[in-house]
Amino acid sequence: MNEGKVIQFFREILRIPRESGHEEKIIEFLLEFGRSRNLETKRDAIGNVLITRPASAGCENWPTVVLQSHQDMVCEKNGGVEHDFAKDAIQAYVEDGWMKARGTTLGADDGIGIASELAILDDDTLQLGKIECLFTVSEETGLDGANAIEPGFFTGKILINLDSEDWGQLFIGCAGGIDTTANFKYFPTPMPEGLIATRFSVSGGVGGHSGDDIDKGRANAIRELARFLYETLDYDIELCWIDGGNKRNAIAREASAVVAFKEEDEDAIIDIFNRLGKEIESEYSITDPGLTFTAEPVEWKKDIIDTNTAYCLIAALNCAPHGVLAMSAEVKGLVETSSNLASVKMLEGDVIRVGSSQRSAVNSARKFAAQSFEACFALAGADVTHEGEYPGWKPDTKSPVLHATIESYRRLFGEEPIVRAIHAGLECGLFQGKYPDLDMISFGPTILGVHSPDERLELATVDKFWDLLIDVLQHLG
Ligand SMILES: [Zn+2]
Repeated sequence: MNEGKVIQFFREILRIPRESGHEEKIIEFLLEFGRSRNLETKRDAIGNVLITRPASAGCENWPTVVLQSHQDMVCEKNGGVEHDFAKDAIQAYVEDGWMKARGTTLGADDGIGIASELAILDDDTLQLGKIECLFTVSEETGLDGANAIEPGFFTGKILINLDSEDWGQLFIGCAGGIDTTANFKYFPTPMPEGLIATRFSVSGGVGGHSGDDIDKGRANAIRELARFLYETLDYDIELCWIDGGNKRNAIAREASAVVAFKEEDEDAIIDIFNRLGKEIESEYSITDPGLTFTAEPVEWKKDIIDTNTAYCLIAALNCAPHGVLAMSAEVKGLVETSSNLASVKMLEGDVIRVGSSQRSAVNSARKFAAQSFEACFALAGADVTHEGEYPGWKPDTKSPVLHATIESYRRLFGEEPIVRAIHAGLECGLFQGKYPDLDMISFGPTILGVHSPDERLELATVDKFWDLLIDVLQHLG
């Protein structure tokens, strides 16, 4: 019955446009939903909505619980699909126990979280303590709603985040992050007479997400190219051009550099490249079987990077922290702190920019990782800045809401849930930054293929998710 209600509300949400940054219609819907049921309803300046369900008679002394989901969805569609996310309803259908959408993302991330909150707000027969239903905006594009939330917007000291996609797993922590950027100002210098140039490239790496995949031991194309450049410093080389990586939150899959040298050194430098290329390909034969080193002669007539800056850049790229820096002692197998050497780009204004990000669930450790990166590039003469910092959610295996949830799970399903933390950002980290004493947990039904038109929701797990949620709320009392 109740499971039907969650899906029924989800179907209603499928009709409401809610692309990140364009949440006007869903905000309006939520405000109307709360007010029409005479529930205390408010929104803040950025668009976060809070609807409060008063405690049922006899449950006034139960602790207030905040239930939280995000309003927005990732809007992706397959090529050739006619769909306007600004006004069209998502066309959902059910097949073999899974709900899917026709050619678009389904938005079960996090529409199912919204729907379960609405089901609780709508049903006053449920015996519950006071519940504050929080709906944040623009989670998918940068956790903006959670970032803008004011202390005091909600009052509960327990928060259940309904934005997880793996049924059977309870999430108790996430990493915070910071971006670190190093800018080298270089002197464009005419290409010296009599040198020849070659373009050296590293490509075919697997790459991946700088948080979730940082412990996979995959090649970083920038780092591997820099290793080669460092070995050429025994010769009179000039660096003409360099480029590598792209997104801050991705492991670099490709990098290239144009290097100039004397014709008489050509054989030696190509030998270094071939020998080191084979060695590195063998280091990564399991993780990056497609990793490839290629060299091709090029004509270079443009200005080059001055020798001193080139040396400093190459040295710094060789010592900058990249990869896992520490594992968690609290949660086995969890990366606690890491750094991602993400990109190197030549920009207008004679600037070479190195982009990176550092992550940790422990705020002091994240700060130190960013400082290590900064120190390395500051020594090399670059200007270093930090931006976009957000706090982590440090796992607490003694958390009362975790223990209540484990007990409910055992009682209902006769088995043990998996307790996990992730090495990527969640809104919970930002809540903990504003509400340091908040006791939090995150769980949800199984959703596969999130953020793509393959997104699908396993309906049987929605049922179990609902039962767990209600049981936890009733036992927290
Ligand atoms: Zn989500």
